[in-house]
Amino acid sequence: MAGERVLVVDDRRDNIEFVVDYVLKPNGYEALTAKDGAEGLRKALTENPDLIIMDNNMPKMTGLQVMEALKEKGLNIPVILMTFHGSESLAVQFFRLGVKDYIIKPFTVEEMLEAIDRALTEVRLRKERDKALADLVQANRQLERRVKELNILYGIGKSVASLLDLEKLLGRVVQAAVYITGAEEGFLMLVDEETGELYVRAAQGPKEKYPRSLKLRVEDSIADGVVRTGEAVMIGGSAKENDLRTVYLVKALLSAPLKTKDKVIGVLSVDNKTSSKTFTDNDLYLLSALADYAAIAIENARLFTAVKSEQSKLGTIIGSTEDAVIVTDSEMRVLLLNKAARKAFGIKSAEVTNKPIAQIVKNDSLIELFVRSIDGSQAKQGEIPLEDGRTLNANLTPIPGVGYVAVMQDITHLKELDRMKSEFVSTVSHDLRSPLTTIKGFVQLLPKAGPLTPQQQEFRTKILNSVENITELIEDLLDIGKIEAGVGLEMDVCQLDAIINKVVENLRSQAEAKGQRLHVELPPQLPPVLGNDLRLGQVVANLVSNAIKYTPDGGLINVRARNSNDQVIVSVQDTGLGIPPADQPYIFDKFYRVKSPETEGISGTGLGLAIVKSVIERHNGRVWVESEPGVGSTFTFILPKYNGRKM
Ligand code: ADP
Repeated sequence: MAGERVLVVDDRRDNIEFVVDYVLKPNGYEALTAKDGAEGLRKALTENPDLIIMDNNMPKMTGLQVMEALKEKGLNIPVILMTFHGSESLAVQFFRLGVKDYIIKPFTVEEMLEAIDRALTEVRLRKERDKALADLVQANRQLERRVKELNILYGIGKSVASLLDLEKLLGRVVQAAVYITGAEEGFLMLVDEETGELYVRAAQGPKEKYPRSLKLRVEDSIADGVVRTGEAVMIGGSAKENDLRTVYLVKALLSAPLKTKDKVIGVLSVDNKTSSKTFTDNDLYLLSALADYAAIAIENARLFTAVKSEQSKLGTIIGSTEDAVIVTDSEMRVLLLNKAARKAFGIKSAEVTNKPIAQIVKNDSLIELFVRSIDGSQAKQGEIPLEDGRTLNANLTPIPGVGYVAVMQDITHLKELDRMKSEFVSTVSHDLRSPLTTIKGFVQLLPKAGPLTPQQQEFRTKILNSVENITELIEDLLDIGKIEAGVGLEMDVCQLDAIINKVVENLRSQAEAKGQRLHVELPPQLPPVLGNDLRLGQVVANLVSNAIKYTPDGGLINVRARNSNDQVIVSVQDTGLGIPPADQPYIFDKFYRVKSPETEGISGTGLGLAIVKSVIERHNGRVWVESEPGVGSTFTFILPKYNGRKM
């Protein structure tokens, strides 16, 4: 092979010249020469040639002695011996010492070339094998190192990713960066989200100049550049960077961006200030990999902190509110139960989370409210009496994806006020009724006491009208008191069509007096409802008499009833004044009357619709109005059909 170095040792110059000029040089070998055995040995030791071609009979040292010396030194260079005929006996000794070949002088160029080739083939193979082995060992070492680094990185990544305390996490990342790159010190800077400026948030070094957790603003053009470009930077090694290194007072520096999905949130750097050890591409790769882990972990920790702080704020608000709050999942297992709720329902057990609400709260009304909410998307409302005599008003709202939230306010004092008010009204009404009856009786008797003048007659009529109005008001007040108290509300199976017919017939004369047409549309068979005959009659009467009252002369009034699924629907439609949208939400409130030029002359107590609403709700029904001013109104109520069970 071209370039191999061959040492020719011979005391005869012409021999050396022949081998060098005719065999070695023309065939691309590099030739070394020695004129005797001693020089040959020296050159073999110092030059370490690939092959030695040697004569045996030489002054100072024979070829045999050179071989022995080489063997003694442990040198294993192949040797071709040049001998004359008759010295074959020596060949045995030479072969014992490891000679590869021998060639008899005189020889041709071809003979010598063949001998060289034979001797070197083995050497070449051995060299190739040694090289392959060395390469393998090298590759193995690199692989081992890479596995070790990846293991370290994995371990760091895992410990970093599980940290949710931001300050601790930042410290750990810098520590890891210094460790895996073998640097002297390291820094972690984060970008302030508001100002965009960089702040050192963690540092590690021999002196740890920057205290941890201190927010220190830095003017750092390299770090700024890393943030701007999102590219890692390595400094140290080439002359061009000397300026930078002097400015930074470091000998080598690595900076990697902390990148999240869409932005750079900071920079992770390591450097060497005193040692002249520079960083490698592998260090940069490791630091970048760590920075990638760290960026995700930092975002996680930030999110966790934000969520935790929101959660604790919410927890404090809910915990300290006076209202009792219970949150359950969709299976009605408790998720949250605040202090007020614990107190209200006397809950002692510390661990309530994930337990069924019925197991934790022993209150039939509340449990019934929860049960009523199953499958409903509407908020439900109910009064919850407590064991200590207090009453809560509960609003239970279904929350998609969460479950249910019950918010309960103490309405004990309101209930008490309401009770006192009702008591007062009912006492006063009772006490007023007797003198009114007396007044009415005597006024009615007046004509019997003697003939009345037309003026006296007119005054008598006015007094009677007023007494009528007050009596109506008192009756309404007493009624509403009774209905709200549930007094005289015995329920039985009722036929609404019969009730409607009876009421309409009673009121027909009033409608006729105003030239109004009063229609009734009933299906051949209306299913019965469970209710109080008298009160349901009162509901229909109030609605029809309102329709007559608030519809001008000649108008049309339609009373309809129909059967729908498991409900009975009744509506009273008129072509009257209508009700302005702004008033519609309030007309069922007690004493609410629409104030307008059209209603000015129409007398009333403002209690008729309040009675309607109370009665219908007592019957588990609903009532509402649809109305357009100048066109007319339709009042509709729905009652559940009688299902064969009495309440
Ligand atoms: P009132 O004794 O005043 O009739 P209600 O409670 O029966 O009291 O009705 C409340 C108010 O609703 C009435 O004052 C009136 O303004 C309005 N209203 C009730 N029914 C009708 C109707 N059919 N058409 C127009 N307005 C009505």
